[in-house]
Amino acid sequence: MQTTLADSYRNTPEGDAAERILRSCVHCGFCLATCPTYQILGNELDSPRGRIYLMKQVLEGATPTAKTQLHLDRCLTCRNCETTCPSGVEYGKLLDIGRHIVEEKVGRGVAETAARAALKTGLGTPLLFNTALKLGQSVRSLMPAFLKAGVPPAEDAGDWPASRHARRMLVLQGCVQPGLKPNINTATARVLDRIGISLITENEAGCCGALAHHLNDTDAGLAAARRNIDVWTPHLDAGVEAIVMTASGCGVMVKDYGWLLRHDPAYADKAARVSAATRDISEILVVERAVLNRLLSSCSEGTPRASRLTPHRIAYHPPCTLQHGQKLTGGVESLLADAGFELTPVAEKHLCCGSAGTYSILQPAIADALKSRKNGHLLAGAPDLIVTANIGCLTHLQSGSQLPVRHWVELLDDVLMDRDASCGCTDRTTR
Ligand code: SF4
Ligand code: SF4
Repeated sequence: MQTTLADSYRNTPEGDAAERILRSCVHCGFCLATCPTYQILGNELDSPRGRIYLMKQVLEGATPTAKTQLHLDRCLTCRNCETTCPSGVEYGKLLDIGRHIVEEKVGRGVAETAARAALKTGLGTPLLFNTALKLGQSVRSLMPAFLKAGVPPAEDAGDWPASRHARRMLVLQGCVQPGLKPNINTATARVLDRIGISLITENEAGCCGALAHHLNDTDAGLAAARRNIDVWTPHLDAGVEAIVMTASGCGVMVKDYGWLLRHDPAYADKAARVSAATRDISEILVVERAVLNRLLSSCSEGTPRASRLTPHRIAYHPPCTLQHGQKLTGGVESLLADAGFELTPVAEKHLCCGSAGTYSILQPAIADALKSRKNGHLLAGAPDLIVTANIGCLTHLQSGSQLPVRHWVELLDDVLMDRDASCGCTDRTTR
């Protein structure tokens, strides 16, 4: 797309990156067919091509309005358009630039600014969020049904195995996940422990920065990234093999640290190193598949491959941050199939569920429409259980589903624990 940047953006890092991306778009419109907001709203300005055009106008010097901001706000940042685009347009990077510029020029009203600040602080500060959650859980039984739905019951996460292996990996605990679903990371630690990898944590790490970043608070997002890089780098120096992500929304952000900090001379190299060491848990287990499968099939007493305690028919929702953001497809499905689960067919797997970080709070009508559509597809195959790979998708889908929604790695842990119990094993580590 022919682009002539306004003087204020020409020869700036943001302007150069935006111009390169804008020029790669050939305006073909293929991306419209897979854009969730275009599917729901039917307005070209709520499609990737329309938003690219709006951002191009702004970068060429047009004055953005509240309407420009609204169309950019309505984007889920699901990056489905990137997967569809035949020209490789890096839409997500362009949107970051466009939103940042529009935010500076248009601003927000007092109430909206306060609401966004409250979301950033409330959700992005683990101590604050977990304290409020525990308080809510303690009086949950007294709550009316509509409030109860927003406060999940307290969960027993079981034991975190002691660090005993030479192979070590580090996990990002995350901000809301340890409070809402503590079993996800302990299940991950148990599965890796059986394989022969000790999973360790670093308490000084905090939110990955995605919450602030997607609320256009670039400085706070980068500050979170720098803090995590500072506390993780010594672990990499000490031989930790990987930084493991159990929430794909965090994973895509940490994998982007290198890009986001590329112009910071003090952090560019360290950020690139952290990004290169970051893996979704599915990537780790796909590599370790041979050992995992030996563990899953090692009991020779006729126990069925799938756990007797765990439902067999599973509907899997691949989060956008996994399939479009990190370009990881097929790994989770194959690991679940290896463990004996039957995956039910799910239509429109590529479409966002509407969670998208704080999107479900800030754009509830579109988020609810997408949730209903997604849950309808997930339930169509009559599964026993729904699984996904991101805490945001999990809680969003659960709020509209009678079926339990879990993280898929919890199922592998269930199968392995059930297998241990059925054959009397106490230590199934193979290395
Ligand atoms: S599919 Fe790609 S090249 Fe075509 S309009 Fe969309 S972003 Fe541009
Ligand atoms: S990121 Fe998702 S919602 Fe946004 S334009 Fe692309 S496909 Fe549409």
